[in-house]
Amino acid sequence: MDVNRAPDGFDPEDIAPPAMRERNWPINSLALDLSGRCNIACRYCAESATQPKHRRRMSEAVLEAALEQLACESDFDQFKSIRLGSGEPLLAKPLARHLDRRLKELAKEGRAVPQVFVTTNGTRLDRETREWLIETGWHVKISLDGPAHVHDRWRVTAKGGPTYDQIAEVATELARRIPDRFSVTAVLCRGSDPQEVFSAIAAIGVRRIEMVPVAHHNPDILPDETDIAHYQGFVSEYAKAYASRVDTQPELVRVINAARRVMGYDVKTVTCGAGRNFLGVGPDGGLYPCFRFIGLDGFLVGDVIRGSSADALRAFQSYAGRSYECREQCRCCWAAPLCGGPCFAEAELFGAGEGAPFAVHCHYIKADSIAAINLVEELRKTNPERLLDFLAGVVEF
Ligand code: SF4
Ligand code: SF4
Repeated sequence: MDVNRAPDGFDPEDIAPPAMRERNWPINSLALDLSGRCNIACRYCAESATQPKHRRRMSEAVLEAALEQLACESDFDQFKSIRLGSGEPLLAKPLARHLDRRLKELAKEGRAVPQVFVTTNGTRLDRETREWLIETGWHVKISLDGPAHVHDRWRVTAKGGPTYDQIAEVATELARRIPDRFSVTAVLCRGSDPQEVFSAIAAIGVRRIEMVPVAHHNPDILPDETDIAHYQGFVSEYAKAYASRVDTQPELVRVINAARRVMGYDVKTVTCGAGRNFLGVGPDGGLYPCFRFIGLDGFLVGDVIRGSSADALRAFQSYAGRSYECREQCRCCWAAPLCGGPCFAEAELFGAGEGAPFAVHCHYIKADSIAAINLVEELRKTNPERLLDFLAGVVEF
């Protein structure tokens, strides 16, 4: 498979999004770094490689100010999501419970409340916390890198011990009890077999699986050419299997999202809303373009007391957060409308040159894109109603 050219019959111009027009974007999503730290020591952790090691836990006052700021900065009823991540949010359970209580109060007042998405390493999900999370109605995403021998190679305790058994048990229960609100992210490093990773996660009942290549400064852990070839073969087979058994195959999130874009839905010239309608909030109340930039002084764009600085946001949008039309290697990339350009954080913090993680990621994006194009083409012929399902009730995890 040559990922550097579009499949026959696919013309990116057919779905090209309109050019980016900057404006005063309403902030409708916040990522809150509640705890400021993590309790395990994943060997590939992008955040510990780039963000300050010591951040304090967020206070109730900062959380309240963040909610207040959001209500001031945008029409609160337009407010769509709160994400708890960057660090391990469940190290700050009292604050998470406080947020839950506040949102329930708002709901009682008849206000539209945001959906909440929790990204957790799964190690702080004791029985009581699981019951509480299930009751909140929040979406939960756990990081699980596949079977034990793959997962425990990378996701280890501070002392280097394994974490698989504990996390797989929790993931199995949540997949059974809240299948529509639960997803797993698996990070692919050098030597990870994507089919093995996918099958192991699917076997414990998970219905939504996101597989992402690692981003890191250490070239030895990045996927190599063999890994990339395996991934291309895997997603190609996945698309065929999905097209023939749509009700039994778990969703491979990146391929399904790309399939929606193949149909012209949600096509944008940026990969995400970071620094536009999405901001990260550090434990001290600093505002950043997203959670990955929290604690990095050069990316501070305001604080929850005074709000965001229009000048700082404009500076971010015009460079680190620029659209793919303004990126040389994206302008000539056939997959650009399906990709939206690079993750701003990965491009900025890990570099964008030849051989850098950005280049590795492009191979994965293009493989996902080809699989999505083939999937849509096949479903158009055999099961067009299923294509409509892709567009209905979509929840972005
Ligand atoms: S980030 Fe890579 S895959 Fe995405 S549009 Fe740019 S060059 Fe293409
Ligand atoms: S910049 Fe990257 S990490 Fe931040 S929200 Fe966008 S895609 Fe996610």
